Amino acid sequence: MKANVWAGRNRLEIQDVPDPQILNARDAIVRVSSTAICGSDLHLVDGYIPTVKKGDVLGHEFMGEVVEVGPGVHNLHTGDRVVVPFPIACGACFACEAELYSVCENSNPNAGMAEKLMGHAPAGIFGYSHMLGGFAGGQAEYVRVPFADVGPIKVEDDLPDEKVLFLSDIFPTGFMGAEMCDIKPGQTIAIWGAGPVGQFAAASAFLLGADRVIVIDRFPYRLRRVQRTGAEVLNYEEVNVLEALRDMTGGRGPDACIDAVGMEAHHPTPAMYAYDRTKQAARMETERPYVLREAIMACRNGGVVSVIGVYGGFVDKFPMGTVMNRSLTIRTGQCHVQRYTEPLLQRIRAGEIDPSFVISHRMPLSEAPRGFELFKNKQDECNKVVLTP
Ligand SMILES: [Zn+2]
Ligand SMILES: [Zn+2]
Repeated sequence: MKANVWAGRNRLEIQDVPDPQILNARDAIVRVSSTAICGSDLHLVDGYIPTVKKGDVLGHEFMGEVVEVGPGVHNLHTGDRVVVPFPIACGACFACEAELYSVCENSNPNAGMAEKLMGHAPAGIFGYSHMLGGFAGGQAEYVRVPFADVGPIKVEDDLPDEKVLFLSDIFPTGFMGAEMCDIKPGQTIAIWGAGPVGQFAAASAFLLGADRVIVIDRFPYRLRRVQRTGAEVLNYEEVNVLEALRDMTGGRGPDACIDAVGMEAHHPTPAMYAYDRTKQAARMETERPYVLREAIMACRNGGVVSVIGVYGGFVDKFPMGTVMNRSLTIRTGQCHVQRYTEPLLQRIRAGEIDPSFVISHRMPLSEAPRGFELFKNKQDECNKVVLTP
């Protein structure tokens, strides 16, 4: 079969790779009908996430048709149309019982590798490095889906792929980011990152009752897109974000702040006061957790900082004194997608949201490397690329 393969740092190739096989009783094989390129794929491609190997098939957002099931899968049948959550979860361990699917204790065969870096291991993830299981991803014609009786959600044919594909990751991820804010009526939520996850976080914050949502980015086309959700926007190349947020909230700060950027935050403008101070204090730092720091500084006393942007390792100069003295709560996690698929599918069905609003580009799987380039370099106002094998 054809698959989009990591062929070295910043090098992707469409290659012929062996068809996946059923290896365990609870596996299924899915013929992919739609798959997407995600911001977190970019961290893999440029080598920021460790333990990606040449020949690895990328992709963790996909859906398709079940073409084969192992003898242990009784709830799925050949011909079923499914969306597959990106974290692989057994459904029966301590974590899964608590609906903490992205930290399933049984789905990461390379848990030892992750334990060395993280203390304990998170779940396996499709197409997402060997430390997270080394599972082949969904930017391919076929995928092996482990624990297929737990994660995949069946979808009736009346909903097109584009409306349900993002149940695999970015809609639940944005929704969980908003849910972790414990939004009460009348509240203001600030979101860093107007990419697809930030767009879903904004839409979700409104679904959960936020009064105002303010989204921070530097790309006008992404800010325009997120405005369609009803959000207000700040371009951090044009304003001092901390001052602007203070002004917009009567001096108090947003009730909750969402980091939807993560480890590769872009340099802000030199004019930004908090940034300069941090920079002075930290001559040796990597600068990557810039957004996280700003979200913490901006949040009102006693508020919540919700982190859904991806981090890989360690951050320098974490403002713990601010967190502690101002009674902030930090909540984070890879999305526990399986918890959200059914309720969010119902919201789609009810017409509360049409997730296809994030799509900017559609192309065949064979053009995946070009899709990555467009998305990475923000060319052609690229917001979200959907690939069809
Ligand atoms: Zn993703
Ligand atoms: Zn589990």
